[in-house]
Amino acid sequence: NGAAEPPPRLVLDLERLGQVPSDKAGPLQRYAATIQSQRGDYNGKVLSIRQDDLRTLAVIYDQSPSVLTEQLISWGVLNPEARRAVDTTPG
Ligand code: C2E
Ligand code: C2E
Ligand code: C2E
Repeated sequence: NGAAEPPPRLVLDLERLGQVPSDKAGPLQRYAATIQSQRGDYNGKVLSIRQDDLRTLAVIYDQSPSVLTEQLISWGVLNPEARRAVDTTPG
């Protein structure tokens, strides 16, 4: 779209992520660990991820990006501002 407003940052809370049972959070835990490994970024309490990564994770979880976003926010793992990244309303 042509909106000038930048998308919100997507920030994972790694401490909260580690507390979510891995039967639910396992794929995201592995995905985040892979990004940390690729970046050599092991010491953070949070991890900024790409907009594209949310779409990839939605495929992994077999959910729409908006449903997955709500799930991650409800776990306390994703910042609520991330909703705007999947909000399809213009402007
Ligand atoms: P790459 O995508 O070829 O990126 C190479 C380098 O460009 C990165 O090295 C980083 O220094 C810089 N870079 C690329 N995109 C961004 C960005 O949006 N913001 C910032 N601050 N820097 C950026 P780095 O960090 O060592 O990552 C190495 C490789 O690990 C990346 O190669 C990519 O393949 C993967 N990777 C790292 N973080 C992510 C991520 O959040 N999502 C995905 N999908 N891949 C990632
Ligand atoms: P910010 O994006 O609001 O991030 C605030 C703090 O959260 C960062 O402080 C850092 O401690 C942590 N943080 C956020 N994302 C990550 C992550 O992916 N890995 C780790 N290990 N920590 C993370 P910090 O490092 O002092 O950075 C302060 C501010 O400087 C950031 O605020 C941002 O505005 C800017 N900044 C830092 N690194 C980058 C970068 O790679 N790209 C851009 N564009 N800005 C950056
Ligand atoms: P950021 O570093 O503030 O980058 C903000 C946006 O600028 C990125 O959003 C991306 O659209 C663009 N950008 C920055 N650097 C590059 C680059 O080297 N190549 C390209 N093609 N685009 C770039 P995006 O992708 O949604 O990433 C959001 C945040 O996730 C980044 O904020 C950064 O904190 C983190 N991140 C993403 N990929 C990487 C990576 O490969 N390495 C590291 N260290 N951090 C990354």
